[in-house]
Amino acid sequence: MRTTEALVDARSAMEICNACRYCEGYCAVFPAMELRRTFSNGDLSYLANLCHNCRGCYYSCQYAPPHEFQINLPKTFAELRAETYEEYAWPRPLARLFHRNGLVVSLITAIGIALIMIGTMLLQSNDVLFARHQGEGAFYAVIPHNVMVALGGATFGYAIIALIMGFLNFWRDAGGKMAELKPQSLRQAFADALTLRYLGGSKGEGCAYPDEAFSNARRVYHHFMFYGFMLAFAATAVATIYDYVFGWVAPYGYFSLPVILGTLGGIGLLIGPAGLLWLKAKSDKTPAPASLMGMDVAFLVLLFMTSLTGLVLLAFRETAAMGILLAIHLGFVLSLFVVLPYSKFVHGLYRTGALLRHAMERKH
Ligand code: SF4
Ligand code: SF4
Repeated sequence: MRTTEALVDARSAMEICNACRYCEGYCAVFPAMELRRTFSNGDLSYLANLCHNCRGCYYSCQYAPPHEFQINLPKTFAELRAETYEEYAWPRPLARLFHRNGLVVSLITAIGIALIMIGTMLLQSNDVLFARHQGEGAFYAVIPHNVMVALGGATFGYAIIALIMGFLNFWRDAGGKMAELKPQSLRQAFADALTLRYLGGSKGEGCAYPDEAFSNARRVYHHFMFYGFMLAFAATAVATIYDYVFGWVAPYGYFSLPVILGTLGGIGLLIGPAGLLWLKAKSDKTPAPASLMGMDVAFLVLLFMTSLTGLVLLAFRETAAMGILLAIHLGFVLSLFVVLPYSKFVHGLYRTGALLRHAMERKH
């Protein structure tokens, strides 16, 4: 059986918490813990991903440091969550990308942008790259439609496969059984995930984040980021239908559905990551492992920059700067797709899986 310091700490903390139970109304972790007497590695992975790092238990724990028990659940679970990202990554050799993840994500992004820029410059003469292109097919005058579809399809398709495989690894380890899945469990888990229910606290007071005072700021910024991402995804889906079903070629008008969805999504992806970065900068660092800061920051910055370059491209798409802005934005988008399975993005996936597992073992 795999043994790491984080697993040993989490097991010991859960045994103490299971005897204490002072925090049982705080979040989903404690009711799930109370269903168990012993904790397998899979149980601990599940509980770690069920923890949403609200820090409420840390600030109210009589056994928190400097007490000799050193109970610090948000920190212990964050360390264990990071281990689960590596443990469940697919394919296995790429699990190493979670080591020094901030640096890895930054390097992949830099290489992705450089490759697209160099490729575009080799593919097109300066006359085309720096010319004003307007109307139907303007983007494809700089980067051909087939090239965009091939690059986007290959990177996004790979990301989806790697994410599904990672999720299945988590699900098996957490003891989830598809045969036991009931519609009400699915409904409950998706309602909890889509409303970010637990980030609101037990009575709507929010999280003890960025400091001991409770606040809903973290929930609000997570909503901006999550729904921003979903709107941006919807914009791409609608644009694909426009192109392949109706034969309407991009770029679309400023008041067309894909552009409205993409703009709203882009704004959400600016506000959400920027707000979360701001909260992180001023947060109490004691209940957080310093080693994971790079992973969080790199992914938030990547989301922010992908959105920012998309909105700048929209604003300047009818100028001679469009070609170069398109190449930069495409570089960010493709890098984002490549790093999705090896970045903090997997947190959303495993957390939803943990909520589903929790909904299945709860009494409805
Ligand atoms: S975190 Fe501390 S106070 Fe809360 S249940 Fe565990 S031991 Fe008790
Ligand atoms: S940090 Fe919050 S979510 Fe995590 S175990 Fe403590 S109370 Fe639960």
